[in-house]
Amino acid sequence: MIKELDMKRFGIDEEIVTFCSKAEKALERLWEEIKDTTSYNQFKVIDAMRKNRLSDRHFAVSTGYGYNDEGRDILERIFADIMGAEDALVRPQIISGTHAIALCLYGVLRPGDKLLAITGSPYDTVATFIGMNKNESVEGGTLREFGVEYEQIDLEGDGIQVDKVLEAMDEKTKMVYLQRSTGYGWRKAVTITELESVIGAIKDKDPNVVIMVDNCYGEFIERKEPTEVGADLMAGSLIKNPGGGIAPMGGYVAGRADLVYLAACRLAAPGIARETGATMGINRIYLQGLFLAPTVVSQALKTAILAAKVFSELGYDVCPKHDDSRSDIIQAIRFGTPEKVELFCQAIQGAAPVDSYVVPQPWEMPGYHEKVIMAAGAFVQGSSIELSADAPMREPFIGYLQGGLTHEHGKFGIYSVLQLFKEKGILRMPT
Ligand SMILES: *Cc1c(COP(=O)(O)O)cnc(C)c1O
Repeated sequence: MIKELDMKRFGIDEEIVTFCSKAEKALERLWEEIKDTTSYNQFKVIDAMRKNRLSDRHFAVSTGYGYNDEGRDILERIFADIMGAEDALVRPQIISGTHAIALCLYGVLRPGDKLLAITGSPYDTVATFIGMNKNESVEGGTLREFGVEYEQIDLEGDGIQVDKVLEAMDEKTKMVYLQRSTGYGWRKAVTITELESVIGAIKDKDPNVVIMVDNCYGEFIERKEPTEVGADLMAGSLIKNPGGGIAPMGGYVAGRADLVYLAACRLAAPGIARETGATMGINRIYLQGLFLAPTVVSQALKTAILAAKVFSELGYDVCPKHDDSRSDIIQAIRFGTPEKVELFCQAIQGAAPVDSYVVPQPWEMPGYHEKVIMAAGAFVQGSSIELSADAPMREPFIGYLQGGLTHEHGKFGIYSVLQLFKEKGILRMPT
């Protein structure tokens, strides 16, 4: 354990370190389980790299149109192999996770088609471009404007209502949409086991429907990915799990080759699809990030679990609980008041290596319905595989913690929240 004298130097009181260290002691069995999954996923990544004969020459720089970019091609081949997918797009031209998901939906859906979301309301920014909110006129070509119908089946507790899903599927249903991670909800992530069984039931009813998964925050948590258990298409962000903390931007799409092609046609233009797109030397960084990703994800996972343990011992409701099975890196903590959730984000920001001196404030972020407060003292702007915290400013004031390139940073963040709570007189340690 770290001695009091040492931690004083960093502004953390001894009782906080003692309390958190005790909590962590109880988690050692879980650390062992995480280690096994990390090893397996690391082997999977290396295996894909050696199978595809990755070589130094693939790290060359392409410019202009980016024709014959072998590095880009092999990166996408490796990525697809890791994900158990036929094909993948892994590109710096994909701006974000939202953009990657939009490529899939706009790529596949046509006027008159129905999109059926079966894990409740999609992530805020996705809901916006679907055009779900009838009263809010977001212009610029939402799916609704293009005549795509939308229907939603809510979760019941943490579970997908399979019967209702099957009932809602009709001849217009082109795509069934699942979000693996919590988003700004209060639920556990959908596990790969659950995903597999739900996809099985849907495919039994209609083998042609496209199963699309928002895989943000899910990569490398389990030993399999959605595309290994029947998902036709999935998308995610490279400044989350699969970028390993060093990808400076980008997103990915992976899945059936014909569907990835349609997404590529949206990214570029029909006819151009995936043959172009200069990478300016980023392929090496993507590959190195991918190589590091399983380990980085394990660090983030340990931080989430420690936070669950610590905050539940302090009397807060947490989701998931420390020993629940996990399928994303998100830890939700119900703080109950706007003040607490703001202090939580401020403390995480204060523990960051970058911009530690700024005080995050709630603001109207583009694409979100409510004000959102975000702490991200990150090397890559907004990167949430780095230690970060955020909260939409709405009842019941849930704070979301995720990331941490090292578990040590995650720990320091948790200590810092407790320290700030103590200084504000709101820390209630169990006696
Ligand atoms: C992060 C995230 C997205 C996409 O967000 P971007 O900020 O656009 O990368 C979509 N869905 C979920 C569940 C997410 O966590």
